[in-house]
Amino acid sequence: VKPENGCTWPPAMSADSVATWEGAERIIQTALDTFGRIDCVVNNAAVLRDTIFHKIIARQIPANIVYEDEHLIAFRDISPQAPVHVLFVPKVTIPTLNDVQPGQAEIVGRLVIAAADYAKTQGFAEDGYRIVMNCNDHGGQTVFQIHLHLLAGAPLGRFG
Ligand code: 5GP
Repeated sequence: VKPENGCTWPPAMSADSVATWEGAERIIQTALDTFGRIDCVVNNAAVLRDTIFHKIIARQIPANIVYEDEHLIAFRDISPQAPVHVLFVPKVTIPTLNDVQPGQAEIVGRLVIAAADYAKTQGFAEDGYRIVMNCNDHGGQTVFQIHLHLLAGAPLGRFG
């Protein structure tokens, strides 16, 4: 959990103190009372994740939204790396690809299908496009809510 991208409550709770259900319940209730919601529980702490993408989903900051459904949102990247650069983001909180659970395959699959559908409706599917998902430092991930980059609109050169 990267502190700059979210916060855990309490910040330094030992595993011992939440070893009982009463302890866990107290932590979750206090976090709910304090923040109004929790996004997940990691390492015996209630985690509130609030990336810039969560704020876009919640309409707390503006974005050029090109698609949205109950599962995901898609909007233009603020710093485009190609003539078309759209980000597809699930509404469920998943900080990195390492956090995707086996039962969440559909969430990742929906991002790919939404990107391909967007390419078709925008008319560049036949010309082609690239999708990219970055993970952690070496992958260059800067926003810790998983997202799929769709890049298109010009020949993108060889990659990989
Ligand atoms: P990552 O580097 O994590 O794979 O991709 C994050 C992307 O989010 C970057 O391409 C960056 O330009 C984009 N981004 C960061 N902040 C904002 C924002 O506030 N609005 C939009 N639309 N895109 C953002």
